[in-house]
Amino acid sequence: MNKEIVSLINNNQEFILTSHVNPDGDSIGSEIALYLYLKNLGKNARILNYSPTPANYTFLDKENVIEEFNEEKHKGFIEDADVIFILDTNEYERVRTLAPYIKASKAKRVLIDHHLGFKKEEFDEYIMDTDSPSTGEILYMFFKDISQQTGKKVITAPMAEALYTAIMTDTGSFKYDRTDSETHTITADLLSYGIKPYDVYSEIYNKATPGKLHLLGRFLNGITLEYGGKLAYSKVLRKDFEETGTDEYAIEGFSTHLMSLETVVLAIVITQTLRGVKLSFRSKGDVESNELAKEFSGGGHKNASGAFVPGADIDELTGRVIAAAEKYIK
Ligand code: 5GP
Ligand code: MN
Repeated sequence: MNKEIVSLINNNQEFILTSHVNPDGDSIGSEIALYLYLKNLGKNARILNYSPTPANYTFLDKENVIEEFNEEKHKGFIEDADVIFILDTNEYERVRTLAPYIKASKAKRVLIDHHLGFKKEEFDEYIMDTDSPSTGEILYMFFKDISQQTGKKVITAPMAEALYTAIMTDTGSFKYDRTDSETHTITADLLSYGIKPYDVYSEIYNKATPGKLHLLGRFLNGITLEYGGKLAYSKVLRKDFEETGTDEYAIEGFSTHLMSLETVVLAIVITQTLRGVKLSFRSKGDVESNELAKEFSGGGHKNASGAFVPGADIDELTGRVIAAAEKYIK
């Protein structure tokens, strides 16, 4: 058990929780689970995120507590916090405008994460496990340890729902590489709190609009294969979002279609946004997509990674990415 983190929680009152830009189910689920735990202990806690919560994860935020970070409104809370939890990313760059305030705060910085590339010296305490399929699973273990130590039940039904969501989404519904028997044992325990898998699934994945499917249609039409079919990519342009009435969140899951191609070992979704170009990489087996992502100042996991290139020209960048990808797929 991480005794230091437990005593930081027990001996302090003011907590801030945050996670990465464009939060996913693991970010939101982990934040809500930890938030509810802190509130159950009578602590003051705030969840401050750079990005708004994607619509398909708002069901977890039943009391509407997640706040979109506003420098003027919130910087004082970060300055005065006792402990700041950074969940599901170990890179300050990925909490965007919160980063300078978190770095300058007198608060203890506690990391709970499962991504590669972590720098110890940037945090006061941490639970880092790159073998874990999700931050939610790490938090589950943390809560179970506390429960064993204190003999008290720690996880409540809404916490279980949040943790289940974190684990389910980050394992790609229990299919990615790091999903193991332990993940299923944990999931079995979480289900015992009365969670209905189909209801959670439906909240998250049955939320498409016609515009999203039209966007997907364009994306599928644009699929391009390189290197004898080993690499597949497709671009989503700003005009595609505009003309289909969608936003950047609509591309979630698009890479799955590229990965379903039998010959493909590396898939890239290239998205044009207002600020620059987002690269989303997925790979199979030993293909180290995160090494490719690093070449573009990104990172992530071996088989799922990404990068964001501010101000890039999408066609020029695409050319460079495809060229750089060759050495990873040979
Ligand atoms: P996605 O493609 O779903 O946006 O991201 C997949 C994974 O890639 C994320 O879980 C995260 O680990 C990593 N990732 C995505 N975008 C970035 C980025 O801009 N920078 C870094 N360092 N990692 C990213
Ligand atoms: Mn995660």
